[in-house]
Amino acid sequence: MDISKKTLLALAAIGSITQPVWASNSDFNFSAKPISKNVYSIISPSYGRPSAENKGWNSNSYFVVTSDGVLVFDTGSSQKIGKGIIKAIKSVTEQPIRWVVNSHSHADHWLGNAAFVDVGAQVISTKTSMESMKKDGQGVVDAFSRMTEGATDKTHIAYPTQFLSKEETRTLGAIEFEFFYSNDGHSSGDVLMWLPKQRIIFGGDVLSSDWMPIMTPSGNVPNLITTLNYVANLKPTIVLPGHGQPTNVNSIIRDAELLKSVWYLVKRGYESDKKANEILSQVQHKLGDKYRPLYKDFDSNTEYLVNMIYKKQVE
Ligand SMILES: [Zn+2]
Repeated sequence: MDISKKTLLALAAIGSITQPVWASNSDFNFSAKPISKNVYSIISPSYGRPSAENKGWNSNSYFVVTSDGVLVFDTGSSQKIGKGIIKAIKSVTEQPIRWVVNSHSHADHWLGNAAFVDVGAQVISTKTSMESMKKDGQGVVDAFSRMTEGATDKTHIAYPTQFLSKEETRTLGAIEFEFFYSNDGHSSGDVLMWLPKQRIIFGGDVLSSDWMPIMTPSGNVPNLITTLNYVANLKPTIVLPGHGQPTNVNSIIRDAELLKSVWYLVKRGYESDKKANEILSQVQHKLGDKYRPLYKDFDSNTEYLVNMIYKKQVE
């Protein structure tokens, strides 16, 4: 026992052991699950931040097979994950992977890009997202590597090279893809993708299913509510979120109503000089019966949401 421990320490000291064994030699073995005849999902069972346990795989990717190639929506937290996604795509189609869309600039949705660029794909996103990617990308590669104890290592960065306007339709392989901005609902530069014929919406982190909407300090709550109402009015049959299981329009309506109620209660509470924790108790008391059963994380996330909206009132 002692000897092996000493040996390990010695090896670590000279740099022979820099990563857990699984990080260097195990690849992701994703399976592509059909959503419809030409749309597939690769759903991460993990929620929360990249960690050693999930090896960085905490977000969903989707792909659409067209007659002219494959379009991939979001590429995961590392180049290695990107390679795993490519393998899953190859298991269902021989079409080349031609397009990648990044829903937004949060690194768990686009650091897999380089794997796709290596096989000839073009990366499409918004200019605003790319600016954030350029600012934060390298720092996050390093942070993810630390957080996952090396599992996401050796990720090269590949930025988008094509940019979407506020509302844009592209016909790719005879399929119409509509793109539109959330107007910073979740983060600056978010874009959603809509297949009008099949009524399938790809939401990135603007849309949620099992968990409450993911708010970030750069997100705009009123614009998120407007976007959710817009998406609900499209009457999608399938809703594909950036994290959690695919869902339907009821989740969108639920999220819009919840956010509207929380926004209103915080605003009104702030205006009548209530403290954030008083408002939180009121929110949990008033909305808990209805919404607690509908989310996996009602109490922890209302706390986060109320504090964030409260801070926005102060700003
Ligand atoms: Zn995000």
